[in-house]
Amino acid sequence: MQHFLPQLSFKIQLSSVLLVWVACSPNSADAFQQERRQTFRPLSIPALKKTTKQLKPINKLLGAPQPGQWLAQQKETGQSFSEYLRSRPLTLTPSRHTLYVQPIGKFNPSQQEIIKLSSEYLSIYFCCPVKVLDSQSEDNIPATAKRIHPAQGNHQLLTSYLLEKQLAPQLPADAFALIAFTASDLWPGDGWNFVFGYASFRERVGVWSLSRFGDPANDPESFRRCLERTCKLATHETGHMFSIKHCTRYACNMQGSNSLQESDSQPVHLCPECHAKVIFATQSDPIQRIDNLINFSRKHGLKRDIEFLKEARKILDD
Ligand SMILES: [Zn+2]
Ligand SMILES: [Zn+2]
Repeated sequence: MQHFLPQLSFKIQLSSVLLVWVACSPNSADAFQQERRQTFRPLSIPALKKTTKQLKPINKLLGAPQPGQWLAQQKETGQSFSEYLRSRPLTLTPSRHTLYVQPIGKFNPSQQEIIKLSSEYLSIYFCCPVKVLDSQSEDNIPATAKRIHPAQGNHQLLTSYLLEKQLAPQLPADAFALIAFTASDLWPGDGWNFVFGYASFRERVGVWSLSRFGDPANDPESFRRCLERTCKLATHETGHMFSIKHCTRYACNMQGSNSLQESDSQPVHLCPECHAKVIFATQSDPIQRIDNLINFSRKHGLKRDIEFLKEARKILDD
C-alpha cells in the first residue's frame, strides 16, 4: 500500500458504464446530488469535533507496535481532525462527486461479485455515487509492464504503467477518483516483490489487486473473507485520496499495514478522528451512513464491526 505523486497530464475519455451504486439515494448520481442539497444540512466543524469526543470512549487506543508491524518500521505521527482540516484536504465537490471503478483483466464469477459488492460498499462508506466501468483486457498492456515474479513465479502488472498510461488519461470529468481492480498481482518496480495496491493522490487514480485475498469461489467463508479484505483495501486507499493520512492512535481502517496478517487484525470501521474527516469530506449524514454500513454488513456476513457501529449510532443519535 504505497503511494506516489507523479506528474501526469489529463485527457478526458469516458468509458461506458456497467453499474451505478448510489448510497443514501435511490436513482442516479444527479438525483443523489440534488437530494443531498435538499434534505441534509452538513454538520458544522464544531459539531464534527463534538462527535470525535463522543465516540472516543468506544475506540481502542493502539499499544506499542510489535516487531514487524507497520509502525515498528515507519516513523509516522498520525493526523488529528484539526490537522486534517489545516491540510486543505480533497473533498467531494458539485463537479467531482463520483468514484469510478475500472476492472482490468479476467475475473471469475465470484471475483466479479466481489467487485460489485465492494463498489456498493465504497458508495456507502463515502456516501457518493460509484460507477463500475466495463472491464478492460490485459492484452493491451505492453510486455514491458508485465513480468513473472523471479522467485514466486506469479504473473504481475506494473503499477506505474497502469496509473500513468492507462488510468490517468481516462479520468472522467466528474470523477472524484478512478480506481482499478485487477485479478493479477501488482509490483511497483525494481526492488519490490509486490504491493496490494498503489495510488496517486494528486492524480486521483489507484489500482488494487484481489490476487492475494484468496479465491472467493472456494467456499462461503473464502468469499466472505475476500469481500472483507477487498472492502477494507478499497476504503483505506480511497481514504488516502480524500487526503486522510495513516492513523497512529486508534485501531482504525486508516492504520498502515505491512502484511495481510496485520491488515486482517485491523477493523474496517474508522476511529473518531478519521470518521470526522470522512463526514467532512463527503458532507454526509453520519447516522444514515452508519445505518447503511450496518445493513450491508449484516446482509453480507461482515459481522466484525456491527457491534461497534451499533454503539456509535446510539452515541451519535443521543
Ligand atoms: Zn495506506
Ligand atoms: Zn483513524
